Amino acid sequence: MELASRDRELRAALFRFVDVVPACRSLEDVARHLRGFLEELPETPPPIAAAMRIADVRAARSALGAAAAAGVKHMAHRFIVGESPEAAVRVLRSLWEHGVASSVDLLGEATVTEEEADDYARRCAHALEQLAERARSWPPRPRLERDSAGPLPRANVSVKVSALTPLLRPDAPERGRRDAAKRLVGLLRLAKQIGAHVHVDMESLDSREAVLELVLELLSEPEFADGPSAGIVLQAYLRDSPEQLDTVLGWARSSGRSSPLTVRLVKGAYWDHELVQARQEGWPAPVFEVKADCDRNFETLTCRLLDARPAVRVAIASHNLRSVANAIAYNRLTGGEDGDLELQVLRGLGDDLQDALAAEGFRVRTYCPVGDLVAGMAYLVRRLLENTSNESFLHEQASGTSLAQLLAAP
Ligand SMILES: Cc1cc2nc3c(=O)[nH]c(=O)nc-3n(C[C@H](O)[C@H](O)[C@H](O)COP(=O)(O)OP(=O)(O)OC[C@H]3O[C@@H](n4cnc5c(N)ncnc54)[C@H](O)[C@@H]3O)c2cc1C
Repeated sequence: MELASRDRELRAALFRFVDVVPACRSLEDVARHLRGFLEELPETPPPIAAAMRIADVRAARSALGAAAAAGVKHMAHRFIVGESPEAAVRVLRSLWEHGVASSVDLLGEATVTEEEADDYARRCAHALEQLAERARSWPPRPRLERDSAGPLPRANVSVKVSALTPLLRPDAPERGRRDAAKRLVGLLRLAKQIGAHVHVDMESLDSREAVLELVLELLSEPEFADGPSAGIVLQAYLRDSPEQLDTVLGWARSSGRSSPLTVRLVKGAYWDHELVQARQEGWPAPVFEVKADCDRNFETLTCRLLDARPAVRVAIASHNLRSVANAIAYNRLTGGEDGDLELQVLRGLGDDLQDALAAEGFRVRTYCPVGDLVAGMAYLVRRLLENTSNESFLHEQASGTSLAQLLAAP
């Protein structure tokens, strides 16, 4: 990972490799692909050159394949808590006992058939039921179970609209929305019945309008006026995110729902994708291109969200100490309770921050992906991109930047 963060070509080669590993038929196959991708590098760092020499020897090829495949699995397990909700429950319970709530993400995105979409919706329903059932025996954790707006469900699942329909297309958003609505409505009904929370993730910009309209439209239905607890995501890397927030707050203030909408504020996980797509099409970039501009916008939106309570519940999702500290400080400065601010991290990326925040008594929720390696590839590659990006807070922290610099205003 360290080598990859310094070398763009190596990073691209490793991502392509990680992407094909689940489809390889044998360890030799794994080694052949690794060698193939690395051979395309203009310059080969010494440790990589040594691995390639091993791949020249037929007998050693499966050993190299085994080591490389084990490396990919090891990385994946850092981010993915289990292959099924049943397997994940042990980790979720242990987090809860240590004062950390969770949101389960069923891996799998961008479905291409109706059957896949039905299967994803079934898996989400199964996870909701399993979690609600198992979480009943967890010990009380008042900080995680209630804020000043009322009770907070123990079972919490994050869903992706692109996995709920194969028809989500920017040129025909209405079709995708209608198709996804059939499945999302079932999940909302189930969540209401068993007292669980459904959070709808935000993906790339081409589906944003469809996702937002879908969620706000469904939650406006009279049958959902008194539940379930639900949430959406706002991406601060988008230049027009302040206007998006106007729309969300306008809706939240007039919705009259008994359980306020939770807004999870993130910077956004598709930055490279949005920029490359805009360049290819000759469009102006929809995302900020200077990291400090994105960070500043995140802070402004944080303050606006905190000011908008009780119309919304606020969840700040970041591993950046400055962004998190800003939320905590602004909340206290304006007379808010710590318990009315949720701080969210990703499993495997924010573990230390999660422990530190929980030890200080904050309400922390960890986003926990569940599923197998094949379904998890897109997720894994996004997390690797985040880890190896030179401008990421985690990278700067790991490379020894001083705390004063890390905490400086953007
Ligand atoms: C619990 C949780 C749930 C999440 N759910 C979603 C979700 O539904 N949808 C989603 O898109 N993301 C989601 N994310 C991912 C989130 O967007 C990334 O983790 C986040 O972008 C990393 O930001 P940071 O504040 O931790 O780190 P930082 O290092 O402070 O920020 C990195 C981010 O800054 C932005 N950035 C990087 N370089 C530049 C640049 N040159 N100019 C402008 N901006 C730049 C990018 O967004 C990049 O990801 C979630 C994260 C968490 C913790």
